[in-house]
Amino acid sequence: MTELELILTGQTNQHIHWLSDKVGIHHEMVSAYKSMQAAAKSENIELKIASGFRDFSRQLAIWNNKFAEKAVVKDQQDNSVDLSVLSDAEKIHAIMLFSALPGASRHHWGCDIDVYAPNLLAAEQTLQLEPWEYQASGPLYPLTLWLTDNANKFGFYFPYDEFRGGVAAEPWHLSYQPIAMPYQKQHSEALLVRAIENSNIQGKIQLLQLLPELYQRYVSNVASYQA
Ligand SMILES: [Zn+2]
Repeated sequence: MTELELILTGQTNQHIHWLSDKVGIHHEMVSAYKSMQAAAKSENIELKIASGFRDFSRQLAIWNNKFAEKAVVKDQQDNSVDLSVLSDAEKIHAIMLFSALPGASRHHWGCDIDVYAPNLLAAEQTLQLEPWEYQASGPLYPLTLWLTDNANKFGFYFPYDEFRGGVAAEPWHLSYQPIAMPYQKQHSEALLVRAIENSNIQGKIQLLQLLPELYQRYVSNVASYQA
């Protein structure tokens, strides 16, 4: 694979600048992110990244744990899904509501981040990354309002702004348009096939059969940047 193909499928971290031990973002996004963070801070919102760059192997572990029923899979109403009664195809759809396929996660790119604001959570509250926290009457609703008004001034937008039949709405997930748009254009189903074929992913045969449909429904099916 080329260097770009490795970036697009999460198989390198050479494009990543580490903000801490765990949180890394694309090196070309650092100043835009810091500007947005400073603007939020001036309005008493302490913008923080819950999850930035994730590599292929991390996303593969998430996938395989869910597929093997070692991790909980939720539906859009926040109920746990019983995977044991589902076919492989049904399992795949249930997992993909909230978890990307390794090789197809926007978190591989470094320009996509899950954000929250610790100062808006009560002392005993820990972040769940669930929609209710970001919706009206949820503790992070002021952050949602602020990002809706301001994120695009810094080049950020919500690719999962609403449910489009694929990935659930993710009011915490931001994309940095100047990097994300070209990456999105250059990502392809054929590239994903190569990444998956070479992995030890659970459900591989079924996944490869369903991939054209999955790619349409969960990977391409995202919002575009609205300036
Ligand atoms: Zn995310």
